[in-house]
Amino acid sequence: MTDTDVIVAGAGPTGLMLANELGLAGVRTLVVERLPERSGQSKALGLQPRTAEVLEMRGWLEPLQQRAVGRLEGGHFAGIPLDYEALGTRFPYQIGIPQPRVEEYLEQRLAAYGIPVLRGCELTGLRQDAEGVTVTVDGPDGQRSLRAAYLVGADGSRSRVRRELGVAFPGRDGRVSMVVADVVLDDPGGVLPEQWQLPSFEVRDATGAFLLPLGDGLHRMLFGGPEQQGLDRDAPVTEDEVRVALHREHGDALRLKAVRWASRFTDASRQAEQYAVGRVLLAGDAAHIHLPAGGQGLNLGMQDAVNLGWKLAACIRGRAPEGLLDTYHSERHPVGARVLENTRAQGVLMIPDTDVRALRAIVTGLLETAEGNRRIAGMISGLDIRYAMPGSPEHPLLGRHMADVRLATGRGLLLTSGAQPALEALMRPWQDRADRTTADRAAGIPGGDGAAAVLLRPDGHVCWAGPGGGEGLGAALGRWFGDPQR
Ligand SMILES: Cc1cc2nc3c(=O)[nH]c(=O)nc-3n(C[C@H](O)[C@H](O)[C@H](O)COP(=O)(O)OP(=O)(O)OC[C@H]3O[C@@H](n4cnc5c(N)ncnc54)[C@H](O)[C@@H]3O)c2cc1C
Repeated sequence: MTDTDVIVAGAGPTGLMLANELGLAGVRTLVVERLPERSGQSKALGLQPRTAEVLEMRGWLEPLQQRAVGRLEGGHFAGIPLDYEALGTRFPYQIGIPQPRVEEYLEQRLAAYGIPVLRGCELTGLRQDAEGVTVTVDGPDGQRSLRAAYLVGADGSRSRVRRELGVAFPGRDGRVSMVVADVVLDDPGGVLPEQWQLPSFEVRDATGAFLLPLGDGLHRMLFGGPEQQGLDRDAPVTEDEVRVALHREHGDALRLKAVRWASRFTDASRQAEQYAVGRVLLAGDAAHIHLPAGGQGLNLGMQDAVNLGWKLAACIRGRAPEGLLDTYHSERHPVGARVLENTRAQGVLMIPDTDVRALRAIVTGLLETAEGNRRIAGMISGLDIRYAMPGSPEHPLLGRHMADVRLATGRGLLLTSGAQPALEALMRPWQDRADRTTADRAAGIPGGDGAAAVLLRPDGHVCWAGPGGGEGLGAALGRWFGDPQR
């Protein structure tokens, strides 16, 4: 029986991001992954601005950007272009990077923390008691038991952890089936895009197939036609299917040379009723599934991980204030629910039907207005996420993620505008878990609206912002960082 602090089931982007967050906080962690090696399936293609900001906060963005294959300017809602420039982010675009490269980078980073990824090890059972969780794992050396204080199921849409917990996964099954394939093409007609371009598209009985360059001669192809409907989600995608879709869209201009991998996906839409049961938590696709419209799933999962990591670390250290871990569900469930809602709406807007086209034309017009664009772009990019921060005085930054701040330690941070002796004195009892620094801009705290200081949680969210007197600061420190005596 191996003992550790946290077991993470699943080495997808969510599990690997979480393991990095735990490693950053010095938490002993073990990742168990069913697959003997990474699948290489390109799946998600883009990092949304909010994820880019979070990664930059940790200092992990630059190495990832070096692995990027392109850039998608702005975003899209059901294929209708969105302009991210209006959002005031330094990343007004999606960073085009195939999912396996994100996973590879995150997995490599774990070595620095001494966190192992046990590959070929499938979680097959779990039992929890007051002190911890025992999991059963089937691996290359047979069955073994692992024990930890907490278990996180980041084991994807068919999560075994979720099923073992008996957590309800309400929603609906897929109604539309599509294919995603990484293909090598011969291009005698010269029609292949060299840059990322996202055409406006429709699904269901549509014949459209769109292509994005992935580098190394590969292209991502996405299509869904009448032949794809009604097939089992696990039915193998045939080369013929890909060829037919390609021909229908491009005639003889393009020829299929090889299909590297292909998979089916649907617009199934479900969300776990609870993200936590005792010492077991759910994150990423294990907690929510939806149509991959707008490119949000991987981003949502990685941000679940960033929300959860520091809270688990505080629990492990015995410093977590009452109810801290409960805020994982209360903060992230509504964010997931909103993505489910917007992807269902996008799914409807992509139905090729005369009436839907009328609706789509109206929505397109609304998204061309500054306010309409700002609202939906904020939602799809993840930049408008704002967590409730009860008890702290109202401020425009409160609950929001603060960009352009480096939090590479997994600790909290009091960011002050110039010297603030009263605030520093208030902060002192918590100096073993939060740092203090001065904003290096003469204008004070960016977006701070004249605030003397802001207090950031380790996930970069502002949990207090206010004047030099520090009204409410002590309460916020206690609420998020616990009793300083513990
Ligand atoms: C066609 C397509 C396009 C997409 N495009 C985008 C996009 O552009 N942007 C975006 O943000 N998202 C996109 N997504 C969604 C994104 O791929 C997923 O949301 C993301 O993979 C979720 O990550 P995860 O780590 O939560 O789950 P997964 O990636 O599913 O990882 C779960 C891991 O757990 C392992 N596992 C499963 N069961 C067990 C077990 N019992 N024991 C141990 N290990 C186990 C699995 O092998 C897997 O490695 C797309 C998805 C698809 C299908």
